[in-house]
Amino acid sequence: MRILIVDDEPALHDSYRRCFAPVANEDANALSAMASELFDDAVEAAVDDTPVFDCDHHLQGLDAVAAVERALAAGEPYSVAFIDVRMPPGIDGKETATRIRALDAEINLVIVTGYSDYSPIEISKVAGPADKIFYIAKPFELAEIVQTATALGKRWEVDRELAGARAMLAQQVVQLEEQGAELAANESRAVHIANHDSLTDAPNRLAFTRALADRAKQPGMFAVAMIDLDRFKLVNDTLGHLAGDELIREVCLILQRSAPEGGLVARLGGDEFGVLFDTAGDEAAVMAVDRIVHACAVTMKVFGHSVQGAASAGLVTAGDNGLRDPVDLLRRADLALNDAKRNGRGVARLFDESMDEGIRVRRRIESGLSQAIARGELAMVYQPIVAREQLEVMGFEALLRWNTQEYGPISPAVFIPIAEESNLIHELGDWVLKESLAVLNQWPGQYVSVNFSPRQFRRHNFVGYVMECVQRAGIEPHRLQIEITETAIFDDAERAAETLYKLRQMGFRIALDDFGTGYSSLYNIRKFALDSLKIDRSFIDGMGRERESAAIVHSIIHLGKALGLGVIAEGVETAAQVQSLRIAGASHMQGYFFSRPVAEDVAREIAETRFMGDDPSQDDVSDEAPGTGTDG
Ligand code: C2E
Ligand code: CA
Ligand code: CA
Repeated sequence: MRILIVDDEPALHDSYRRCFAPVANEDANALSAMASELFDDAVEAAVDDTPVFDCDHHLQGLDAVAAVERALAAGEPYSVAFIDVRMPPGIDGKETATRIRALDAEINLVIVTGYSDYSPIEISKVAGPADKIFYIAKPFELAEIVQTATALGKRWEVDRELAGARAMLAQQVVQLEEQGAELAANESRAVHIANHDSLTDAPNRLAFTRALADRAKQPGMFAVAMIDLDRFKLVNDTLGHLAGDELIREVCLILQRSAPEGGLVARLGGDEFGVLFDTAGDEAAVMAVDRIVHACAVTMKVFGHSVQGAASAGLVTAGDNGLRDPVDLLRRADLALNDAKRNGRGVARLFDESMDEGIRVRRRIESGLSQAIARGELAMVYQPIVAREQLEVMGFEALLRWNTQEYGPISPAVFIPIAEESNLIHELGDWVLKESLAVLNQWPGQYVSVNFSPRQFRRHNFVGYVMECVQRAGIEPHRLQIEITETAIFDDAERAAETLYKLRQMGFRIALDDFGTGYSSLYNIRKFALDSLKIDRSFIDGMGRERESAAIVHSIIHLGKALGLGVIAEGVETAAQVQSLRIAGASHMQGYFFSRPVAEDVAREIAETRFMGDDPSQDDVSDEAPGTGTDG
């Protein structure tokens, strides 16, 4: 403890020295006890050791002031100063105290004074605060000095520690405040990122479902629409991902512009968007979404390429009394979207209950189909394809039948598309091809025409796969005709052209099925190595009734001839159709008129007979076709 003593009387300094000389043990203990009484328990430990005093003595006030200044500068301030009042010839005690106080706010001043000198109040006024100024009357007791010095010194120490702690706390508070501000900034950034899509900066799926949940809690009718780009994958695959991204951004802007006012447009992921808006009713909602779909159908410039925009939409409305569960609403909008995609694309569909039922049936079919082979529920039937002139049976189309234990027969028109959506199609296709090739041994020379779905056709190394199957069955390639549809080849025309070329090089026959129903131009098919076109039966069916169908049939036959292709008319049911097709020049015919698809043993008889009647123009047997009736 640093103590400052200023008194003009040298003899008094000796007294002070005696006071502060190291004390005997007993005295020290007494002092400790006193100190712990003065201060609370918290400082007791510190008080326990006997204080050691380090005293500086001065005879004049100015010297003392200078000493205080030095001590402060050195970082070793005094805790207590004993100041005599009368110190001629220099400044008096009051002035000394005043100056010291001006330098050091913490120091405890003890004024050593006679009764006639300044009153405590006077000195406090200039060298206060009052709780840091004390008085000892002259002449003093030594013990009085020591006690005062000890008490004040300890208090000074505690004050200093407290002040230090307070300063540290203040600094920590500042730091915490800074960190808090930074955290808040980070948090708002994180919240933004969590709720927005980085590509378009539109709200994302999370934000959309939240907004939907919030909206569902409020009264009033609203609509949820899901919008999906048609053929986005094509842009991605042909022009690259950057172009795909650009297209997404463009479309997002279009959606934001064309969505109903106050509506929320969010990117749900990939090329899928969601729109949430208030509406007056189903009709108004459909109109609003129709507008959006139309707005998307524009040509956009993406990295210098013209890209035709196209979108499909599914929507569902939620009235005050109906279903308002967000998850269910999203699911329903999605079902409606699927329906829109299945039925032509580029349209908006409003959800209806049948869509939900449809999904359930699909799931059931899918699970049943996965066990169909093992359960022996599958069978092949064969339908003859005859040449125009003498109705010679040239080949048979192999058609798959599924007779379920649970629901009876299910049409391939129903289950093939479902198998096509999962990997089941490959398993089924393998089975079909194996069965169809096996049956060839029973026929004198006809070919078998097997349907391949787009996914089968696009599977890796399709050519090698078919070749291997044929070789294993010991069959000549020209006895297998591969039927594929336009969709299988036009979605990736270049690769398809190559695949077809290879197949044809190896000797397989190739027929383009359902011709006329797709979107390919007649002109485009030149690029593909084909043997024949199969005119879709909807045209044959319409031939007698609509001029249009007849015209299409004629032009397809024409085109086929010009390209050196055979033309197979399928779905021939009447003698009249046979007649007109013969005149038009179809090279082959197939249909109930000649035979329904028949079981293996019946097909064998037909194959061996070779000809299907000699004059078909005699009568019309559309429903009672010759042969049998095993068609499902
Ligand atoms: P598709 O390839 O166009 O097959 C011709 C469909 O027309 C067959 O229906 C056949 O039974 C039916 N049909 C034949 N002649 C007539 C007729 O004179 N009038 C009428 N109204 N219909 C006739 P099916 O067997 O129900 O097959 C439907 C579709 O299922 C097929 O259409 C084909 O796309 C697909 N499919 C059938 N079997 C297979 C298969 O093994 N693999 C694949 N990938 N698809 C198959
Ligand atoms: Ca076919
Ligand atoms: Ca067909």
